[in-house]
Amino acid sequence: MRSASFIVMAAIVAMIVATTAWQRSVPAPFGFSEASAPEQSAIERRFLQMPSADRIRESNRFFSSAPHIAGSPRDRELADYIRDQFTVFGFETVTMSTYDVLLPWPEETTVEMVAPRAWRAPMREEPVPGDVYTEAPPEQLGLAYHAYSASGDVTAPVVYAGSGNPEDYDRLEAIGIPIKGAIALVRYSVPYSYRGFKALTAQQRGAAGLLIYSDPADDGFAKGRVYPEGPWGPPSHIQRGGIVYDFLVPGDPLTPGWASTPAAPRIDRSEAVSLPAIISAPLSWKDASVLLESIGGPEAPAEWRGALPLTYRLGGGPLVVHMRVRADDRVRPIWTVTGTIRGSERPDQLVIVGNHRDAWTYGGVDPSSGTAAMMELARTLSVLTRGGWRPKRSIVFASWDAEEFTLTSSTEWGEEHAGSLQQNAVAYINVDSAASGRHFTASAVPALNRLIGEVAQTVRDPAAHIPIAAAFRDTVAADTLPGGSSRDLVSNRLGSGSDYTVFLNFLGVPVADVSFRGPYGVYHSIYDNHNWVARIGDPGFRYHVALVQIWGLMLLRLANADTLPLDYEDYGRRVEEFVNEAEKTWSSPSDLGEARAAARALREAGLEVEARRLRALSTRNTATLEALDQQLMRAERALLDPNGLPGRPWYRHLVFAPKFTYAPEVLPGVVEAVRQGDGERVRAASARLAGGLRRAAETLGKR
Ligand SMILES: [Zn+2]
Repeated sequence: MRSASFIVMAAIVAMIVATTAWQRSVPAPFGFSEASAPEQSAIERRFLQMPSADRIRESNRFFSSAPHIAGSPRDRELADYIRDQFTVFGFETVTMSTYDVLLPWPEETTVEMVAPRAWRAPMREEPVPGDVYTEAPPEQLGLAYHAYSASGDVTAPVVYAGSGNPEDYDRLEAIGIPIKGAIALVRYSVPYSYRGFKALTAQQRGAAGLLIYSDPADDGFAKGRVYPEGPWGPPSHIQRGGIVYDFLVPGDPLTPGWASTPAAPRIDRSEAVSLPAIISAPLSWKDASVLLESIGGPEAPAEWRGALPLTYRLGGGPLVVHMRVRADDRVRPIWTVTGTIRGSERPDQLVIVGNHRDAWTYGGVDPSSGTAAMMELARTLSVLTRGGWRPKRSIVFASWDAEEFTLTSSTEWGEEHAGSLQQNAVAYINVDSAASGRHFTASAVPALNRLIGEVAQTVRDPAAHIPIAAAFRDTVAADTLPGGSSRDLVSNRLGSGSDYTVFLNFLGVPVADVSFRGPYGVYHSIYDNHNWVARIGDPGFRYHVALVQIWGLMLLRLANADTLPLDYEDYGRRVEEFVNEAEKTWSSPSDLGEARAAARALREAGLEVEARRLRALSTRNTATLEALDQQLMRAERALLDPNGLPGRPWYRHLVFAPKFTYAPEVLPGVVEAVRQGDGERVRAASARLAGGLRRAAETLGKR
């Protein structure tokens, strides 16, 4: 008895000592009080142990076991499976929303040479030894195509137009090679320019058709070993993809700005601004090289030469190609699955995570690595809730559909629930592909920089055994970042290309997008399958586990914090930097004075919020904490302009928009006016931007 009570006493003393020592050594995470930090730390330590690499591997194998293009029976089966899993996990609200959207599938893609000789492109990806996925019969794999290409039939000479960007056509014109009436043959390029931008450019220049091929200089043998020996694209790999003009408006082209519910009005196809009028098809380099060998004409400029062992020429010579593209242009159902874990204290506030489910074929990396990661995250949280744990705020999981077409189901869902999301959404964290390599990649609004930075200090790199943030700094120092990656841990330059777009640009919800990346040359081809992921992208699935840990910690902190971990001091500072950049490109910097002053006001409001946050966290007065939460939640909304950007009203965010290439454009209104050289427009855009920044500062309580 005596000894037992002594042990209990000693244990209690040890616990107090340990807790105190812990409290001294580990600062509370951003947004948490010292008092609630130990409880959060305990749940985080439990959570970090839970994700299983083996389970993620099996889940990735399952989700990518068969092609599952949006709207297909297999896509529906996977949607049903996810819905059932959410129910098994005990999520309170599980829903499947159906939207009927324009979702063209291919009926024919013919590319054939008619002169100087007859030859027909097989348009077929060849099986590779040891990979059964690549041996599937063609009817199972489907035709490679460009979704939303016009249907049509043309026979025309071919002109090689580099990357197919406007400056490339200018150059051709200067050389004296007309593109009008010809078929443009262009490269998918690195740095990436969205294929829809290439289509729009070719259409505007009067081309009769467009062929986009994967040059080995960009994603094939010139980069390194090709699949199955390495990560790069083999000779016959074809990059499928949408060419829709969703930089004008994403989502169902027939319901721009509203949801494609059964009763919703539809516009006529002829009125849909996002639909291309040109026919377009993708090619492997193996097929493209046959055309390039026969193209004739003058030699191409040095920068346009790829890695094929031939002389790159511009055309206007003997080569004539016949292209026929037919799509069925059907309206099909797609399925959004959501599941909600109800919050215990602020259930109305929603922290949303999502990933798309549909793939062009197997989608080993894109998106099934992300789908497997999301299901593992959902499972681990369900284990915690079974044990009696509850997040303070509600957590929503979303499995999106038809992302590959035009970010379709996330856009429709965001449009359908715009009112409640603008009222209640705290943040949206997107994962498209979870892991194609080891390099941590994050992009986010600046309000989330600090949260992501702290999480990257906590989660460890599975190979280097140091925090992800430190491993990231090492790759920057060694200059081994994949092409186009940010040198900041979190890039604050958000373009488009995944499902966060509706949340940021239409709804004004803070967003982040995270993944691990590496050399990946099989994008949107049949070689992006489970074997690629398991043998090359992430053997051992350890970076998938790290991604679940990062995603989960962000979610747990957003859902549990006493005050939302959103940092508007950093936001204001970043916008000031963006204004500085814009000023450097404009002759009269004083035109941007109003925007500069408003950005400073946002930074100061953010600084002032941090002082109030500290006071509120030390007093822990519920009313004060909740009032602060409301202000933090609404600040991003204030950065929307209800009238939208000039020429594209769907895009309403004043700080971020995609360029037509999908590359990020910061301060889009100002930068576009600067580019046009129109002083009046620059001043007007500066005033509009300043208005949003001041509204955000006022929302945060600055008068
Ligand atoms: Zn994707």
